Amino acid sequence: MNLNDDLFIGERRNALKPRRMDYHRVMRLLLVEDELEIQHFLETSLKEAGYEVDVAGDGSTAESHASARVYDALIVDLGLPDQDGIDLILRLRRLGVSSPVLILSARRSVDDRVAGLEQGGDDYLTKPFALAELLARLRNLLKRNAAAGAGPTGLQVGDLELDLLKRRASRGGELLNLSPQEFVLLEYLCRHAGRVVTRSMLLSEVWGMRIQPDTNVVDVHIYRLRGKVDTEGREPLIKTLRGVGYVLKG
Ligand code: CA
Repeated sequence: MNLNDDLFIGERRNALKPRRMDYHRVMRLLLVEDELEIQHFLETSLKEAGYEVDVAGDGSTAESHASARVYDALIVDLGLPDQDGIDLILRLRRLGVSSPVLILSARRSVDDRVAGLEQGGDDYLTKPFALAELLARLRNLLKRNAAAGAGPTGLQVGDLELDLLKRRASRGGELLNLSPQEFVLLEYLCRHAGRVVTRSMLLSEVWGMRIQPDTNVVDVHIYRLRGKVDTEGREPLIKTLRGVGYVLKG
């Protein structure tokens, strides 16, 4: 065996492992798959490959994992028992989850593939697949995401600061005790600081409601949010424009 052969084998062996030296910490994945056999196989294989893995067998479990932790990537099967994987991805995107998503599906048609990618998936793998291919695609997604810097990791408006990775907000250095939904609402207001945000914008962008039901959900959440952000002695940041909506002082 000559040197070239050795290098080639080394390269192939490395192709199956995440290059941990590229990262400062172990990559954390959320695997959403209901078929137990595949779920166990993937969980074991991904852990052996050096990843930290959380597993969900249905959409609602996946949603609660993804709103509690930040994952470096999600692997999502489209055929879930409680909902379609595409709907899950859409909802997670609306909740502010921006991690890359690798879609797994038994659906082979080109239309499904295109739909999956258009709805917020970043790559697509049709079952049955080879483990080596899944690992290679996953590594590409993680690399692309790291290269893109995954966007800004924080927002700041005055003395209000949002940590988008830890999903935590603070004012004047003091941590605010926000629910995940309140954080999403505040994040939206911060991204539009200084501009008027209407109730229907909030209903569609934060709550994902396309129609406008007769609901006071926005007012109730703004009221609670204001109680935490604009506490006694602080300059009020969230202003109400009667009959129009809200504006976060920019
Ligand atoms: Ca399935």
